[in-house]
Amino acid sequence: MHVILMGPPAAGKGTQSKFLEEKYGLMHFSTGDELRAEIASNSPLGQKVQKVMDAGQLVSDDIILDIIKDRLSRPAYKNGIIFDGVIRTIPQAKGLDKILTERKQAICAAFDLSVDEKILVDRVESRVEQTLARGETPRKDDNLDVLKRRIKEYKDFSKIVSPYYAERDLLTVIDGTQSIEDVSKKIDSVLQHCL
Ligand code: AMP
Repeated sequence: MHVILMGPPAAGKGTQSKFLEEKYGLMHFSTGDELRAEIASNSPLGQKVQKVMDAGQLVSDDIILDIIKDRLSRPAYKNGIIFDGVIRTIPQAKGLDKILTERKQAICAAFDLSVDEKILVDRVESRVEQTLARGETPRKDDNLDVLKRRIKEYKDFSKIVSPYYAERDLLTVIDGTQSIEDVSKKIDSVLQHCL
């Protein structure tokens, strides 16, 4: 069972991914995280993508599709994947569909967690306050400038990618300001059709 998860930063994708991992044994997969790990390990791929990422541009579709192909072939990912912010262009969406078709698989649902920008700012501010109160260092990307840039990036790609899944009757937009349990329930009810 493969799921597309979209939503701005701090919309609750991490929390819902944990729910999906536990309930369905899916594997969380984020190209942003994967690419940062490649850079941190100074691998050939990391060296290749560093400049593009530093400039805030998109990594090429071929690189993204190669990483996706690799993960799909790994035994650990056999129950299915939560594609978290992985698909950002139409060639990536079409490429993923083609790879899955070749494997006789498909995307079963796409979710867009929608949260008003003002609420996202409040969430990040309180996350930073709570982290500081515990005497810990806040996440590097938990600051307002980074948040606003990431929200803009999200808006740019979601207005391209959401319609792709909507046209295929796969998209569910969920109000991400509901309780964690209510969001999980909604996701769960849609996924019942995939079983
Ligand atoms: P993120 O932290 O997920 O926003 O990703 C950080 C950076 O990684 C982005 O600004 C892009 O440069 C690159 N990246 C991550 N996922 C993709 C993707 N699917 N397509 C192209 N570039 C990506």
